[in-house]
Amino acid sequence: MFKGITKRWMLNTLSVVVAIIVLIVVTLIFVVTYTFRSSVEQSLASAANELTLVFSGKSAGNVSAFTSGARDYVENFDKKEQMGVMVLNSSGKIVLTSTGFIPENEAFTDFDEACENQTDYAYWTGKLRSGEHAMSATRIVRSDSGTVVGAVRYIVSMEPVNSRVMLISIIIIAIGLAIIALFVFSGLAFIRSIVKPIRRLSEAAAQIAQGDFSASEKIEHKYDDEIGDLCDAVSDMAKDLQTTEQMKNDFISRVSHELRTPLTAIKGWAETMQLSERGTLDRRTFDKGMGVIIKESGRLTGIVEELLDFGRIQSGRMVLMCEKIDILAEFDETVYMLKERAVEEGIHILYDDPETVYPPVYGDRNRLKQVFLNILDNALKYTPKGGVVAAQVLYSPDEPDVIRIVVTDSGCGIPPEDLPRVKEKFYKANQTVRGSGIGLAVADEIMNLHHGKLDIDSSVGVGTTVTLTFPIYKEGDEQALPESVKL
Ligand code: ADP
Repeated sequence: MFKGITKRWMLNTLSVVVAIIVLIVVTLIFVVTYTFRSSVEQSLASAANELTLVFSGKSAGNVSAFTSGARDYVENFDKKEQMGVMVLNSSGKIVLTSTGFIPENEAFTDFDEACENQTDYAYWTGKLRSGEHAMSATRIVRSDSGTVVGAVRYIVSMEPVNSRVMLISIIIIAIGLAIIALFVFSGLAFIRSIVKPIRRLSEAAAQIAQGDFSASEKIEHKYDDEIGDLCDAVSDMAKDLQTTEQMKNDFISRVSHELRTPLTAIKGWAETMQLSERGTLDRRTFDKGMGVIIKESGRLTGIVEELLDFGRIQSGRMVLMCEKIDILAEFDETVYMLKERAVEEGIHILYDDPETVYPPVYGDRNRLKQVFLNILDNALKYTPKGGVVAAQVLYSPDEPDVIRIVVTDSGCGIPPEDLPRVKEKFYKANQTVRGSGIGLAVADEIMNLHHGKLDIDSSVGVGTTVTLTFPIYKEGDEQALPESVKL
């Protein structure tokens, strides 16, 4: 019936609480019983103590003096309402009672015990032949010479005491049961408030795992506590997963499209060349077709390389071949490579080679060129015809530990809400321009592997500035790079 947390609570907490309450109830009942019994014992003992005064001197001188003294005592006994009194002869036989009725064959043992006791006094509790519970106490009366002349027994019915003890015990047990019931109800309600949302959460998580992200809407934030935080975390996770899933799907369709465009161009031109009769294709068209095929296969290689790099970064297998390099020369070369394209696209590249030698940087020449290419490619891609892309390599003796490359364009810019995410994999702020959305993620990772930084600042309609910051080579940099990087 009970499982999970409820069962654990039952076993661990409830069992301990029940055991403690049972212990308290049993102790209380014991204390009550003991108190009532000892109060009866005390009243018997105080009556018996008075006897010492009554039977002192001549009234206890011999059996007949005792018998007549006892008769007076029984007649004048003032506690008849509370207890009965019996006079016993020297052999323990009942000779006189306050009720006038002489019981026979009762199981009293107090006379024999009192005779043996030094105190001449003993109790008895048990059942009378009538079935009634009773307590009696017997005091032996001795003559001056010490012989037993008789005894007096006081007897009290235990029935009213027992029923009072029973009533109090029932009340104590009822209170104990009420406490346990209260504890069980409040405990179960508390556990239900934990178990129910967790169960709903795990159902939602299972649905999310199956790809049903709408299940996150069913997660309600009912409590402002750890459970509430957990609900928030799971629904945030579901939203992130949904976004990533969406981005991944977009990425796949984008990449497929990116691959298809050059392939269509290559296939188209290859078919044109094959179908045209030998020699009928003029030199200009042939050169144009070959140019397209070479350019488009280069684009394909670029896309595949980018995907491979992305895969390497994802699995931590990116390998750097580090050496001391002149970053200025490498950047210079990359800008030069893109100059022709910029002219074709009608964009002005503003770049002045500082014609000086800057301190070296420890890094992988090809990977860093890949970063420069990506940043400059983005600048050209997102800048319309007639725009400007300005590039600078900066080194200042005020900051002798770093060298910076700053690329600023006058392109479309990145909206502020997209800016913090453009370095994430698959993220594209601008869906209208071609690109897989992983270029900046790869570039950022390469910069991190070099212990450098890639910062982007942008404003919509004004342009974008990308700053690459490299640490200058220091003695021992060879050891400072992470193991995976040195492989
Ligand atoms: P993509 O292949 O789409 O260019 P990137 O990872 O290189 O992917 O860039 C991610 C996104 O950042 C781009 O989709 C674009 O929205 C934005 N972005 C990057 N560079 C620029 C830039 N110079 N100007 C405007 N937007 C840019």
